[in-house]
Amino acid sequence: MLFSTLSEYFDKLEATSSRLQLIDILSELFSKIKEASETQEICYLVQGRIAPFFSPLEIGMAEKTVAQAIARAFNIDREEVLTEFDKKGDMGIAVNQFVHIVNSNAKITVKEVFDTLKTIAQTSGDGTIEKKITLFSDLLKRVDKTSAKHLVRIPLSNLRLGIGDPTVMDALAKVKLGDKSQRHYLEGAYNRTSDLGLIAYTLGESKNPVEAVKKVEKLSVKVGNPIRSELCERLPNPEKTIEKMGEVDAQYKYDGFRVQIHKKGNEISIFSRNLENMTHMFPELIEGAKNQIKAETAILDGEAMAYNPTSEEFLPFQETTKRRRKYKIEETAKELPLKAFIFDLLYKNGKSLLDESLSKRLEMLKETIKPDDILLTAQNKTIKDAKTLSLMLEDAITKGLEGVVVKKLSSKYEAGGRNFNWVKLKRHSSGELKDTIDCVILGYISGRGKRTAFGAGALLVGIYDQKKDTFVTVSKIGTGLTDEEWKSIQQRAKGLEQKNKPARVESLINPSVWLKPELVIEVLADEITRSPIHTAGAQLDQNGKIVEPGYALRFPRLISFRDKDKKPEDATTLKELIEMYKDQGKK
Ligand code: ATP
Repeated sequence: MLFSTLSEYFDKLEATSSRLQLIDILSELFSKIKEASETQEICYLVQGRIAPFFSPLEIGMAEKTVAQAIARAFNIDREEVLTEFDKKGDMGIAVNQFVHIVNSNAKITVKEVFDTLKTIAQTSGDGTIEKKITLFSDLLKRVDKTSAKHLVRIPLSNLRLGIGDPTVMDALAKVKLGDKSQRHYLEGAYNRTSDLGLIAYTLGESKNPVEAVKKVEKLSVKVGNPIRSELCERLPNPEKTIEKMGEVDAQYKYDGFRVQIHKKGNEISIFSRNLENMTHMFPELIEGAKNQIKAETAILDGEAMAYNPTSEEFLPFQETTKRRRKYKIEETAKELPLKAFIFDLLYKNGKSLLDESLSKRLEMLKETIKPDDILLTAQNKTIKDAKTLSLMLEDAITKGLEGVVVKKLSSKYEAGGRNFNWVKLKRHSSGELKDTIDCVILGYISGRGKRTAFGAGALLVGIYDQKKDTFVTVSKIGTGLTDEEWKSIQQRAKGLEQKNKPARVESLINPSVWLKPELVIEVLADEITRSPIHTAGAQLDQNGKIVEPGYALRFPRLISFRDKDKKPEDATTLKELIEMYKDQGKK
């Protein structure tokens, strides 16, 4: 396929504000592709990437370098490009001022562009920047206006097509398996491999839907590819937990951040809760993994936390998160060394353990970690009565931990799953709402008076409807926010403003400014109520009028920013919110 053809599709995708249309346009695009490898490349490119999201492969060109490449391609001054960029706020629009008419017959293929971008990403050593500029400017000389617009946005992570992974899967299912209702076949493979490109390639190689399903189901865990984390459900108290789950393995709930540690010989990778590659941030965990994992290949699941073994003190979450940084890594590692509390083993010596029972996995885990002081196995205990569980919960809280996680001993590791195999019991167990809610900021609503200084009076926030892959509204948050918080929100929201409602947002409220759904905040509310103005869980008729009310938050307040460790799709889901609604008031 020509890159100019792909760019025309990018234009269509950019212009639509309906998710169904996104799927239709993507399906049409996928149906035109002949080569399996091209399906794979386009899968990455529609999300502005050249490799799966967890891969550390980055193009490595910032605004000034891209501007330099544009300047060289079109024989102008870099300053001229940067001035245009400042005016337009988007390099894609800026570059269109300079693309020559002669480029309109550009015949460069998607493969050529993809390969060159990859070469740019892999360039290293002396004169790297210069080499990248030359390669990128050569590319720009060979594309037309529309292509140039999208091409320059890729290195700047600004492709703005707003396409989530489930939407890509819907389109692939529609084209390759006959209908988007078949997406669940792809989801399983995605949960195990996190690589949409690999799935697309496998589908592209198959002759028919039956063969495609077979091949996709065979895609298994790979060391180096993060596995989607298993997540916890909630139950109100130890009594209800034992009643529902019977005998369980109860583990301390460490309040740090999730780490999935991969070992392949001497090569270690570490992934976060949202599967980002964070390997370089934690040199001491790398050392620990090299020294303590007694296996050639392995994948461990655990929680990293700052801990003082002498005083047996767990440091608060705010301390631990200071380690999620890109600079001064070695220094902070010395000041605040981390331990990783390992609670699961997902893969060992070439074999996936996802289908083994938790008891078996825990048994193997004990044999796999050599006792030392960096990787520590999570404290756990088999419990079958509510009283013992209450005591363990108290004990955890007294130690400064968050609570306990209770797990079914017979359960498999369900990658990406949130169900009653794992249940979290936390400190706030007697209040109305037992847990905070992670919301996505969807827009600003202008205010009057003091707040207008920051341009906003309230935020429109939503949660994630996992089934539909859309963001639905649950609340407006305004009064409780401090000036500091407003400033911080404004800073984080820079560049996310959108002229129209983003395609995957469903809302009956029109905020003054829409924001691309990206910023996740943790919100505590007094109660969840039914509401005729919010779209979370609401049913609308054909005219968009509510026939069944949605759910909303009463007295919401901002607790923390979660944009570092949660993607918008990791926000609280509609299903969870409805369960929390039903659980309210149960003691
Ligand atoms: P979630 O990750 O479920 O979306 P969240 O980010 O708000 O929710 P919590 O509700 O605090 O997190 O609880 C789940 C998290 O607890 C896990 O993702 C993991 O990082 C952490 N955790 C700590 N100890 C354990 C343990 N023993 N077993 C499983 N998870 C644990």
